Amino acid sequence: MQVKILGSAAGGGFPQWNCACPNCRAVRVGTFHGKARTQAQIAISADSEHWFLLGASPDLRSQIESTPELRPRAADGVTRHSPICGAVLLNADIDHVLGLLLMRELQPLNAYATLSVRRILTEDNSMFGMLQRIDRQLRWSEIVPEESFSLFTPAGNDSGLRCRALSLGIHYPAFVSRRRQTELTRQEASLGLIVESPSGKRLAYMPAVPRIDDVVLKEANSADVLLFDGTFWSDDELIQVQGSGATAKEMGHVPVSSPIGSLAQLAHLQCLRKIYIHINNTNPMLDEASPEHRQVRDAGWEIAEDGWQFEL
Ligand SMILES: [Zn+2]
Repeated sequence: MQVKILGSAAGGGFPQWNCACPNCRAVRVGTFHGKARTQAQIAISADSEHWFLLGASPDLRSQIESTPELRPRAADGVTRHSPICGAVLLNADIDHVLGLLLMRELQPLNAYATLSVRRILTEDNSMFGMLQRIDRQLRWSEIVPEESFSLFTPAGNDSGLRCRALSLGIHYPAFVSRRRQTELTRQEASLGLIVESPSGKRLAYMPAVPRIDDVVLKEANSADVLLFDGTFWSDDELIQVQGSGATAKEMGHVPVSSPIGSLAQLAHLQCLRKIYIHINNTNPMLDEASPEHRQVRDAGWEIAEDGWQFEL
């Protein structure tokens, strides 16, 4: 399985359009010791020809253009084509689903999501109707937490990639009406994903983890490569930077630091690689000259960058 990290930042990207935090300021004037990043996006493939997206980032257009394998190939006079076969949606967050609307050109695609996430998008947000104007456009498959499912190409061929989702968060995005929320299943709000490659290797993708419990520990430990929630360094990070706002925990993210943080709680994992992803622009570990960056690297973690790829 080929794994590509197309985007590694949390919602808003880095720098973020309306942010003048120390990190965003420094990256704009070129004094930052580190890299800018687009909003989180993973692409996976078993054969390097058929690709599946994990999430659908608002930055997908530029991410596709900077990734030769994801660009269309013209053949026999056909100019409309995409190696992208579909997307696995783990939640209904705007920065996780907006990219679907960028792929509305009548291209056959498969979408995998819980019934709750699908209902939010298709029943409450009429713009997503653009993805279902013709029969063979976007075809939905239901994700049931804990049940395995395979990823299929739009032509109906098994990609060889097998997935299993775990329920991680129970909160829906703020744009989902209170009335709609009462009709949804809370356990379908936010998922982590385990992808098994044809060779039996495991990728765990957990970009939004509210707390580290025994299930998260077990799944993380049995992965060969772990892509884990690196959104915030500290619980009160946004409050410190902007003077007000929500805590990391209130936003559904366990912080990296502190005794309950992922650095401490996941210190003894067996996996080959553990990589922080979905990193907010305010996170001090983005600065490669910072003590926080050093601490993370010394603990054996990597900090994802756009354009990384590996085989599993
Ligand atoms: Zn910022």
